[in-house]
Amino acid sequence: MPPAFSVCVYCGSRPGLDARFTSAALEVGRWIGQQGGQLVYGGGKSGLMGVVADAALASGARVVGVIPKALVDKELAHLGCTELHIVDSMHDRKRMMAERADAFLALPGGIGTLEELFEVWTWRQLGYHDKPIGFLNAAGYYDKLLDFLAGAVDEQFMGGWQMDLIRRDTNAPRLLAQLVQAAGLSHTARLDQI
Ligand code: AMP
Repeated sequence: MPPAFSVCVYCGSRPGLDARFTSAALEVGRWIGQQGGQLVYGGGKSGLMGVVADAALASGARVVGVIPKALVDKELAHLGCTELHIVDSMHDRKRMMAERADAFLALPGGIGTLEELFEVWTWRQLGYHDKPIGFLNAAGYYDKLLDFLAGAVDEQFMGGWQMDLIRRDTNAPRLLAQLVQAAGLSHTARLDQI
């Protein structure tokens, strides 16, 4: 049976300091598996990337990893993925990840995570795709960035409608359920029970 939905997750190749980041990654991976979904991600085994992939696999999800050859050579690939695609460049990787996803979700992470998130957000504002995008603000990690972006709206470098293109939440199951629903796909979770 094909997966009910496919979520592309961007997250840190490091675990970060706060244990709540790891808890959030576990919750995301488990939810995707429990709801019959598929995880698409950067194919790494370290940090939150490895946590979300292992949790998804353990919960029965299909896991699609897309990783550039250079990172495979550094032995950073997760060889347990259901599908592991080794591509030539970061551009090929990001294109394939975006194509294979129904929705995007960013967890806490560093510049790689931010770059990937901002790219799909920018593509969305230009109308290159209409897939939902979520920001999991686990343990308030993104509070300062969200404040900065509110300032960018105040300074009129962006409009409020651009902020409205991303969904923000601190609760992983609620955010995932909303993203899947917004993509027009189904899950079995009851939103009023989350
Ligand atoms: P960062 O947030 O800087 O740790 O970068 C994480 C994001 O960049 C992930 O979503 C990956 O797509 C990519 N990335 C960075 N480092 C790695 C790595 N060691 N292995 C696989 N992907 C990585």
